[in-house]
Amino acid sequence: MTSSTNPSPSSSGDLKARIDQARKQIDKACRRAGRAEGSVTLTAVTKTQPPEMIAAALEAGLTVFGENRVQEAQSHWGDQRSVNPDIQLRLIGPLQTNKADDAVALFDVIETLDRARLVDAISRSAEKLGRCPELLIQVNTGQEPQKAGVIPQDLPALIGTIRARGLPLVGLMCIPPVDEAAGPHFALLAKLARRHGLSQLSMGMSSDFQTAIQFGATHVRLGSALFGDRTS
Ligand SMILES: *Cc1c(COP(=O)(O)O)cnc(C)c1O
Repeated sequence: MTSSTNPSPSSSGDLKARIDQARKQIDKACRRAGRAEGSVTLTAVTKTQPPEMIAAALEAGLTVFGENRVQEAQSHWGDQRSVNPDIQLRLIGPLQTNKADDAVALFDVIETLDRARLVDAISRSAEKLGRCPELLIQVNTGQEPQKAGVIPQDLPALIGTIRARGLPLVGLMCIPPVDEAAGPHFALLAKLARRHGLSQLSMGMSSDFQTAIQFGATHVRLGSALFGDRTS
């Protein structure tokens, strides 16, 4: 893992250098996989970052951001959104049904659908608010009891539920078990996406995004590789 290898950038110049480096690594992984450069979107994960870092990230030209809590995302991005139409916000953490209205109002993409009750809640919020984010299903590829996500066997039924409601399902997301090689999990997610005709694959974090790109990731979620280790 990445522990203590990524001290926080001390200036926005460091941040720009890290973004450049990450983009180069993404392009290189694309070439190695025989994929077009630019076929992978960099999602910058800004959870736990202070306002100065959010400002520096915008200044550095990042536009796609991942947050894992609705409330923190509101405080990071609530004001920015109305003045900066280029920003895309993606929810990458678990969502409680009682936060569905707030999430549907704020996010462009929700990556963590994992149960029918949440589909119901999002459907109601979307109807009420007259907008619906694009949706990804989080798949618990390692079938870990403590982890969010639908287990692979239950995926077809959940896809059916979402499609029956006419909601915009676009892809799948996963977080492999920390103590296993990530490749087989990425391969499984890619296979499931193909089988169900879904084009977005959100997989790969700071420690394994090059592997994820090899297996077809369209969106990689980078936190510490850009912003340094999180202290909280
Ligand atoms: C925090 C987080 C990331 C970023 O992790 P890093 O290892 O810091 O790149 C990516 N995806 C999810 C779902 C996260 O919660």
